[in-house]
Amino acid sequence: MSEEKLPDWDILYLCLLEKARERHQGKIKIKPKSELKWFWKMLQFILKVLTFGKAPAIYDRFFTVIGRTIWLPGDGSLWDEFTWWQQYALVSHELDHMDYCYFGRSDIRDEDHTEIKNWKDLEAPWYWKLWYNFKYLFWPLPILYAYGRQDIEIKGYRRNIEVNIQMFGEVQEYLILFIFHQFTSANYVWMATKKRADELIQKEVEDVKKAYAENRLRFG
Ligand SMILES: [Zn+2]
Repeated sequence: MSEEKLPDWDILYLCLLEKARERHQGKIKIKPKSELKWFWKMLQFILKVLTFGKAPAIYDRFFTVIGRTIWLPGDGSLWDEFTWWQQYALVSHELDHMDYCYFGRSDIRDEDHTEIKNWKDLEAPWYWKLWYNFKYLFWPLPILYAYGRQDIEIKGYRRNIEVNIQMFGEVQEYLILFIFHQFTSANYVWMATKKRADELIQKEVEDVKKAYAENRLRFG
């Protein structure tokens, strides 16, 4: 893709966030983990114990969504080092989880909703939100065959793949390797076998490539 055809990621980012804020009725917050340091340090410790010390330093490195708050690593300074398209990709991934949790659908933003006024009415019932969290952590197993977590994360990583192809005209190999690592390492507590991770990622990449070729990807 030539330079002048690149999208304005700063505008798309603001657009993405603005629409998400409307959908989630102004309840979205973006905060650095340092604002709730004791909690993140405690979670990091628990994960270290559960993974025999292999879990990464989630306090300083990972972007995470809990409820409607997107938590930035550390004191948030890392965030400012990212370019607009990278910020777009990261937030797009986390919003995917948020939509899936609150509306029961991660693709709700891909539709036209000019008619819709009351987003609250479209929200999934409370027991779905309960199931969503159970599914993420334990369903049907907490490791290797964690199909629930795999399903939620591949939907999230699809957003990263979409941004990547839009930005570079192809899905970069480093991203595929990065996602594969996420699926098969302690980063997500070994949620998939290597075979399964490979299948899931290839399927998603092919699907995004098709959508890109047919000009069906939507941003902002
Ligand atoms: Zn995720």
